[in-house]
Amino acid sequence: MINITLPDGSVRQFEAGVTPIGVAQDISEGFARNVISAKFNDTKVETTTPLRTDGDLTLYTWRDKEGKEAFWHSTSHVLAQALEQLYPGVKLTIGPAIENGFYYDVDLGHQVISDKDFKKIEDKMLEIARGKHEFKMRSSTKAEALDFYKSQNNEFKVELIENLEDGTITFCDHDTFTDLCRGGHIPNTGIIKAVKIMSVAGAYWRGDENKPQLTRVYGTSFPKQKELKEYLALIEEAKKRDHRKLGKELELFTFSQKVGQGLPLWLPKGAALRERLENFLKAAQKKAGYEMVVSPHIGSKELYVTSGHYAKYGEDSFQPITTPKEDEEFLLKPMNCPHHCEIYNTKPYSYKDLPKRFAEFGTVYRYEQSGELHGLSRVRGFTQDDAHIFCTPDQLDQEFKNVIDLSLYVLGSLGFEAFTAQVSVRDPENPDKYIGEVENWEKAENAIISAVKDKGLDYVIEEGEAAFYGPKLDFMVKDALGRSWQLGTIQVDYNLPERFDLNYKGSDNELHRPVMIHRAPFGSMERFIALLLEHTGGNFPLWLNPEQVMILSISEKYEKYAQNVLNLLENHEIRALVDNRNETIGKKIREAEMKKYPYMIIVGEQEAEKGTISVRKHGQQDLGSITIEQFVDLVKSEINSTLKQFN
Ligand SMILES: [Zn+2]
Ligand SMILES: [Zn+2]
Repeated sequence: MINITLPDGSVRQFEAGVTPIGVAQDISEGFARNVISAKFNDTKVETTTPLRTDGDLTLYTWRDKEGKEAFWHSTSHVLAQALEQLYPGVKLTIGPAIENGFYYDVDLGHQVISDKDFKKIEDKMLEIARGKHEFKMRSSTKAEALDFYKSQNNEFKVELIENLEDGTITFCDHDTFTDLCRGGHIPNTGIIKAVKIMSVAGAYWRGDENKPQLTRVYGTSFPKQKELKEYLALIEEAKKRDHRKLGKELELFTFSQKVGQGLPLWLPKGAALRERLENFLKAAQKKAGYEMVVSPHIGSKELYVTSGHYAKYGEDSFQPITTPKEDEEFLLKPMNCPHHCEIYNTKPYSYKDLPKRFAEFGTVYRYEQSGELHGLSRVRGFTQDDAHIFCTPDQLDQEFKNVIDLSLYVLGSLGFEAFTAQVSVRDPENPDKYIGEVENWEKAENAIISAVKDKGLDYVIEEGEAAFYGPKLDFMVKDALGRSWQLGTIQVDYNLPERFDLNYKGSDNELHRPVMIHRAPFGSMERFIALLLEHTGGNFPLWLNPEQVMILSISEKYEKYAQNVLNLLENHEIRALVDNRNETIGKKIREAEMKKYPYMIIVGEQEAEKGTISVRKHGQQDLGSITIEQFVDLVKSEINSTLKQFN
């Protein structure tokens, strides 16, 4: 008999040779029907692999990341089989599971695959899948494996096998198809009910441009047709909400090749949006006791040698700028922290003066390869909503809680409701990796964990994810399409106070090191606005929208009335515009819809006579004819429901 330990810690006894699916059946028949892959003692196994020793077994269903990986990996074999049948002489190379699907890189010789062929490939894959063929692993000697692929003239697989040790080589067979494979499959092809070829692209063998070019076929698959449909709808929605597309339509920002790659240019409306976001945070920060500071866009190379940044990232950064006469060296500022340390260092502090909280919307420059750049979410110049708090170790607990409060206020005011707090702590097995005193680390880690518990946050603790200089907390935010974004890092730092020799006089009259907290609730203005665009689809919260109301006059005759309405709204601090162009009202409405103004006011003869307005809310029906006072109340109550005061 062997002892199988399940993830909940329970232990079950079985005859040696029991399979993972056998264990699943012992748990429940219903559960077993959903199990599609398994892990035994940290190794991927088949659901039919006989287990012969005691060990830990994890069973996966489609709901698990590992289950999906096995599902997509297995489907890539089916894709390869379909390609062999449809494109005689095709040479297979590698075909891994990736996020949201899989691909297979193949050498098609003189044949090509275009969009028109996708349906044919999908049909062939589904035909194979319906055969319910089991995936079976088979060991092979190196000589046999080489013979097999040499007989097929497949130099790619031959190269792969040549790099493998004899005795470790396995194949996976299903139906009439076989492929070199390490394992980790679903039980049979019949579970694959929906497939979709997503795209084809060129890819070099082993990613090396000096090697042959292959065709990469991307696909995805699902256990239900309905899930494929939902996935495709999500992709369509994501395309519509792509911040690069919305940024152009809403005239928020642009890029210019002349200015340089990865350097966004903010248009008037985008600049107004940024300013509103900045003012919103500044107001809350002021209440929370922050002081604004300003630092330059470049700093002496020595500054970053002191901070340790130059040794760590210098090679991969924008290279130093030198002055023509004095031969001084400067770096484009990659981070604001060293500057803020020097601001702290301008005068002596006693423990009674702390905490000091220096905030700056500081623009920094970081080199990114051109291929990595992506709209506003990956740029070379960006503005952090940065702040550094310098406090005593005893104040850390309270300061951390204050920063969490501020971050939650920011997320809540902007309509983000789904998030988890990720706490990164030391790797308990490698205590030497970290600088600073053990006692302080314990204090800091406990402070973070007690703060997230205290605030009732949904949290996970990641061991070994802390930076060498301190533990941290990240807010992982889910957007409207269910995608995760990392926002609002709060990082404790014992390193920079040491390197910059920061100190304060304690109650014992001795000098001590302050603790430093780095924090940025938005992260950067650029990335945050990208996220906000994709989360809201461009329909910003009313309080934030730089243009809240578009007033449309039915004809020039009502221009004056439209102007009166505008003046009244402005008296109530509602931001509005008038469209007086000599265009049809239909056209004006369509354009205003496109620009996503939260409210449209339409004025014509009736309205001008009665002193009322006709109101349409974006994406909703007409609200009908109301008085201006009623409208002002409506707008104010909508704003007050999302934007609370920060206390
Ligand atoms: Zn496989
Ligand atoms: Zn910092």
